[in-house]
Amino acid sequence: MKINQKNKENNKYHFFFGNLANPLRVEIITLLKKKEMSVTELGKAINVEQSKLSHALANLRRCNLVKTKREGKQIIYSLNKKTLLPILEIIDNHSTLNCGGNCAECKIQH
Ligand SMILES: [Zn+2]
Repeated sequence: MKINQKNKENNKYHFFFGNLANPLRVEIITLLKKKEMSVTELGKAINVEQSKLSHALANLRRCNLVKTKREGKQIIYSLNKKTLLPILEIIDNHSTLNCGGNCAECKIQH
């Protein structure tokens, strides 16, 4: 396929949403929306293998969807609020105003 400007745009959206379209990554984002957390705290809250958690965090971090800072021996993860809060708000509003979070497409995911 010839890569024109339109396809480049499509790829950008595809990769962005592709990075988020994963239950574990969504769970991480939902938790970090409430407060910043260390890997240990995330691990306790999510109950998933450490390697899977690390992998998911690395994916999110590469795209700067989550940020890290060091506090002593701990790495603390926080949400890139500037990007993700508006997106999450738009999705919440869409759900309320349009499909009620209850359409066939949304339901499949539950
Ligand atoms: Zn829906």
